[in-house]
Amino acid sequence: MDWYSETLASSAADWNVQSVSDVKRKLITANHILHQQGVVDAYGHISVRCPGTPDRYLMCGYMAPGLVTSPDDLIEYWVKDSLPTSPLAKKGYSERFIHGEMFKKFPAVNCVVHSHAEAVLPYVTSGVPLMPVFHMAGFLGNDVPVFDIGTVYNPGEQQDLLVRDSRLGSALAFKFAKDETEVPSPEHSVVLMRGHGYTTHGKDIETAVYRAIYTKVNAGVQTNAMLLRSALPSTIKAKFELEPLTEEMCHGCIKMNEGTQDKPWKLWAAEVEKSALYVNRG
Ligand SMILES: [Zn+2]
Repeated sequence: MDWYSETLASSAADWNVQSVSDVKRKLITANHILHQQGVVDAYGHISVRCPGTPDRYLMCGYMAPGLVTSPDDLIEYWVKDSLPTSPLAKKGYSERFIHGEMFKKFPAVNCVVHSHAEAVLPYVTSGVPLMPVFHMAGFLGNDVPVFDIGTVYNPGEQQDLLVRDSRLGSALAFKFAKDETEVPSPEHSVVLMRGHGYTTHGKDIETAVYRAIYTKVNAGVQTNAMLLRSALPSTIKAKFELEPLTEEMCHGCIKMNEGTQDKPWKLWAAEVEKSALYVNRG
């Protein structure tokens, strides 16, 4: 076993032996990181499967992710229908079905992030494919699917593009799969949502947060590269074509990224700890 595989194996095996309180604390930190890194603003959200009780998941209630401070701000839901496990639960996110249906369809998914990050929006509005254009985003793979909610609405349904029930959540989760075969892990790491944003996931919080952040970074790099090429005077020839990473490069980069993503996590966590805006009483 090489050092990459060793890191991956131990991380996946550790999920269910973590304490719930440790996961809640890390989930609060993840909310803060996603806000600080510009992945979420007042909108967007992150959830985790409950360690030891895989039929339940946790996410914060109806509030901006940057303002989550306490385990009391979190709501526990059933995976089967995304209803709160407690009748006393506060108001939650209308889009929690994105998370519940991902946990239901893919047993190996333990964390889900949904974002409307501005850098990604050109790729959910223009039809230009989002491509892995640099080594930190190999996880995108060579075919980032697009979920078009307009194709699954029933007549008379409120068409606000929000994934506000299990049926819509299930249709989104299906876009992560290769085909109809039931498998524990998704084929795709990111699905773009037309006219809306994107969703990603991970076997743990660090993986999902890494993917959420670097999807945004890659989108910005791709946009700038395309704009730069279009601005090139006809008298100057580009040195090479604008192309995505090859499939083999994507696989290599995934191993490298997942083997080292604990490093940026520690930096991001230290940054939010030092900021007066973010409070974690977990
Ligand atoms: Zn949304």
